[in-house]
Amino acid sequence: MHLALHQGIVTYEPTELVITARSGTPLSAIEAALAGERQMLGFEPPRFGDGATLGGTIACGFSGPRRPFAGAARDFVLGVKMINGKAEVLSFGGQVMKNVAGYDVSRLLCGSLGTLGVILEVSLKVLPTPASELTVTFELSANDAIVRMNEWAAQPLPLSGACYSEDTLYIRLSGTETAVKAAHARLGGDVHKKGSEYWTNVKEHRREFFGGSTPLWRLSVPPAAMMLDLPGKWTLDWGGAQRWLKSDAAPEVIRRAATSAGGQATLFRGAIAGTPRFHPLPPAMQALQQRIKHALDPAGLFNCALSQEMIGECPTHTKMKAAGRVL
Ligand SMILES: Cc1cc2nc3c(=O)[nH]c(=O)nc-3n(C[C@H](O)[C@H](O)[C@H](O)COP(=O)(O)OP(=O)(O)OC[C@H]3O[C@@H](n4cnc5c(N)ncnc54)[C@H](O)[C@@H]3O)c2cc1C
Repeated sequence: MHLALHQGIVTYEPTELVITARSGTPLSAIEAALAGERQMLGFEPPRFGDGATLGGTIACGFSGPRRPFAGAARDFVLGVKMINGKAEVLSFGGQVMKNVAGYDVSRLLCGSLGTLGVILEVSLKVLPTPASELTVTFELSANDAIVRMNEWAAQPLPLSGACYSEDTLYIRLSGTETAVKAAHARLGGDVHKKGSEYWTNVKEHRREFFGGSTPLWRLSVPPAAMMLDLPGKWTLDWGGAQRWLKSDAAPEVIRRAATSAGGQATLFRGAIAGTPRFHPLPPAMQALQQRIKHALDPAGLFNCALSQEMIGECPTHTKMKAAGRVL
């Protein structure tokens, strides 16, 4: 499926803080248009290269370091237009926040990785670019950093990033100049002169930590969970909720540790034979996701192999396939 030609900003109303664009629009084009009005995508999505499109970003459900403080990609999606597996063009949501009657399909498409249909257009809420930004650092142990990140996240501080890497806690403050100065005075910490570069490199996985051939795992856990007893190197983003682990440990050991901390582990980069990329779903959740897949794509047209990896074989689809009624 090649959607790169289906591009262009359909409407952009800076005074309404809403943009609607076709799915093949490069993320860079959207961010450039917003920057021209001193606005931005609040979920700070990574691009992982030059080619990232709006549709791909929403389908991957990607959000950057600002996610715990501003919201995730799905929190900014106001509406979508899509084609489902029955070749129906459907529109969900709209261009305002209170737009959901019934099932919230637009937000369901975030992270669906193209398994439920083709996203044609997306409407997003956007945010004003903060007037001032400052990054401060603290040398701490990982567990002390987790405690601090959680303490500060619960306070009325203008936080927009909290990440721990290589024995250092990086805190980003964003807002008015007065608010940022006051927060710095309260928290202390050393001013990091290359703060903006640091957050871009974390977001885009350009730091040395993210390179190399050791498998990269993404652990999604409650932010207050203390360090998991797993071998490897860590980067803790999202105030402790998104933990990147570079480790050769056995996949089942990593997944067991993530589960017992109340989370899950995705093999984000690097293939391991016999290991599914996605954390196995509990049976009730798996059945629900299979029903959603079947409702939107009964013939299994969209990313079927990936879909099976994510949610397992859909029993209805298997039955229909055996009867020769679907692909
Ligand atoms: C688990 C995981 C690991 C990743 N690892 C890396 C990595 O190591 N390096 C890297 O550079 N990037 C990585 N990515 C990012 C990804 O490959 C793309 O770079 C990024 O999603 C944007 O590219 P794109 O817009 O060209 O989308 P694509 O790469 O073309 O597609 C990304 C996903 O979105 C779906 N999709 C795209 N457009 C639409 C649409 N209009 N409607 C519905 N579905 C759509 C596709 O089916 C696919 O599942 C990873 C993504 C995931 C989910």
